[in-house]
Amino acid sequence: MNLNSKIEDIFPRLPDSRKKALKKIGLNTVEDLLYYFPARYGDTEEIKNTKNVQKGDKIIIYARVKKIKPTKAYYKKITMTEAVLEDSEGSIQAVWFRQPYIAKMLPEGTYAKFSGTISERKGKPYLANPEYEITESITSGIFNKETDNHFFIPVYPESKGVTSQWIYHSIQKVFTSGLLDNIEDAIPEDILKKYSLPKLKTSLIWIHSPKKQSDALSARKRFAFEEIFFIQLLRQKQKRESLEKPSFKIENKKDSAKKFTEKFPFKLTKSQEKSIDQILSDFEKGNAMSRLLEGDVGSGKTAVAATTVYAVTTTKPNGSNAGALQTAYMAPTEILAKQLFESFIQYFYHLNVQIGLITSSGCKKFPSKTNPETWTDISRSQLLKWTANGEIPILIGTHSLIQKSVEFKNLAYVIIDEQHRFGTKQRRDITKKDERIPHLLSMTATPIPRTLALTIYGDLDLTLLDEMPKGRKPVITEIVTPERRKTAYEEMRKELQAGRQLYVICPRIDEPDPDKANTLNVKSVKTEAKRLKEEIFPEYEIDILHSKMKPKEKEETMRQFEEKEIDILVSTSVVEVGVNVPNATMIVIEGAERFGLAQLHQLRGRVLRSNTQAYCFIFSDTKSEQTLNRLNALKTAENGFKLAEADLELRGSGELSGKKQWGISDIGMEAIKNIKMVESARNEAKEIIEKDPELKKYLLIKERLKKIEVHFE
Ligand code: ADP
Ligand code: MG
Repeated sequence: MNLNSKIEDIFPRLPDSRKKALKKIGLNTVEDLLYYFPARYGDTEEIKNTKNVQKGDKIIIYARVKKIKPTKAYYKKITMTEAVLEDSEGSIQAVWFRQPYIAKMLPEGTYAKFSGTISERKGKPYLANPEYEITESITSGIFNKETDNHFFIPVYPESKGVTSQWIYHSIQKVFTSGLLDNIEDAIPEDILKKYSLPKLKTSLIWIHSPKKQSDALSARKRFAFEEIFFIQLLRQKQKRESLEKPSFKIENKKDSAKKFTEKFPFKLTKSQEKSIDQILSDFEKGNAMSRLLEGDVGSGKTAVAATTVYAVTTTKPNGSNAGALQTAYMAPTEILAKQLFESFIQYFYHLNVQIGLITSSGCKKFPSKTNPETWTDISRSQLLKWTANGEIPILIGTHSLIQKSVEFKNLAYVIIDEQHRFGTKQRRDITKKDERIPHLLSMTATPIPRTLALTIYGDLDLTLLDEMPKGRKPVITEIVTPERRKTAYEEMRKELQAGRQLYVICPRIDEPDPDKANTLNVKSVKTEAKRLKEEIFPEYEIDILHSKMKPKEKEETMRQFEEKEIDILVSTSVVEVGVNVPNATMIVIEGAERFGLAQLHQLRGRVLRSNTQAYCFIFSDTKSEQTLNRLNALKTAENGFKLAEADLELRGSGELSGKKQWGISDIGMEAIKNIKMVESARNEAKEIIEKDPELKKYLLIKERLKKIEVHFE
């Protein structure tokens, strides 16, 4: 047996259902199994999670109060408290009979340990009259305090077909095989010593069968460091690689760029000027730029992009006095690609530059031969031809832009808008034959905490657009509780009467499945649009937008909204990224407690588009003071960056969906909360790559990076 042995070879006779289940949660090898960590520890068989409980089970769970309210049992009129408790595995209902005050004791968002017996109502299990004990967070509850100094049983996240017990016994088997005796630690010993981290063997034992709490915590700390350390190593290595690659020299453009910007209908902010200057300086160096431009929605990233593209477009390819260097500008959605195409036409209008648009639903080119005032539809093959022979210097598009069939003649600059990653490999692929790689500008309005940015974007140099254009009024933000809903509708009506448009954002697309417990009471796009039309705003045009619509349908709806054929657009958070309709001056967000602060901030950015006063109504039914406080941060925080930090602090690492969005596990997110740990990991990684860029002396690290590179690209 070794770390790469397949689990199904080590444990023969696994039923097919379990094999499948293991694959599904990413457990293929012995190493995967060893790195599958307990969610918490318990002392007896009673410890459970919300999954797979049955009537009569005595359970202890560590959970968060997701919802809670005092109510009355309708049949007997007894007062009670009903709650939904949520842990990493799911959620369960809890009921306290004749204890209506519990709702006050356990406001929404509280973490606590709950113990009690499972009852059943209409076939659904619920926790009856549980005892509770408030804890600081789910992770502070990973230990059952009373059992300190006893034996700890690890409780693993379960899934259908894989129980915590199965994982426990399998890991114990690996332990008794003696495999740990020969296990090699990829983290160099001096680093472990410097930060007092336990060795790999010790850490594995401590995390899977700790004898005391502090051992398990040390082990968690080590694995948190380990995860971030390897991401940092990967990023530092990539950074070095792209720096070594030759790129296109674009020189002496600062003056002409300045003239270009003087034609804009506005004056650049200092921040924009500084960003342009930084990028143009990078262009002069001859090796490839890798830069992240981070700025709130509306901070004017497109103008920075256009100006720097101008510098590229007016540069002739090496050794040639015809043609121009090319730019590829990739947007995350068709709607955005189309809007960018139109903005670029505005910026380049007076210069008669050819601009192409490529998406999966068609291609366009500006200017049209027959009418140079506007663009025209052209065939994909025609566009590809003009791109390949260099006639089109600026190509804007969605992912279609980096398909194999798209070839450029002199691609010198790649801009990625709101895309999480675009690595060295993709950069090499997109240029195919050329030895040189294009300059890269990645742009984002997604406010993320500094530690996370340093980690996932560790290979990029950072430019912040931290200044809003002059005269822009901050969005007036109101937290609207149910009793004030009516007043809010009157405000909305006033705005509509003034000829403005508005967005209504709902957390769901469809009505929830009534059979699924706990999902009720969340507004859905479809029902809310219908209700608004029938009950509140019958005289206005209302339509919907969500991710399950076809691209063509979405585009059509956006066109109608832009052309004011629709007054109210009811949508899921798909409008989050970059949509630009200046006449939409109000955004209403339903079920706001379900969104993170950073996300709410981005949604609010949709209406920050002109100098007209804009409004954001945050509708929430929550009675929890904690949740209301959290939402109130939206009224006070200076920028998205600050809100992202607040999110990280207030929400707990597990809830930031690190895995889904950034590929970082819950344990890694614990490190993200810790600036010291992130900085240490980063410094150590930098030093290693500088000392030994080929990692000749660090074969274990080299091997590991190969594995995670696949995962992170
Ligand atoms: P972002 O992409 O950062 O969200 P945009 O580049 O789309 O922002 O700019 C938002 C709006 O602000 C656009 O209508 C743009 O014309 C305008 N704008 C950009 N820079 C300035 C500025 N310095 N002063 C005034 N308006 C600006
Ligand atoms: Mg933008």
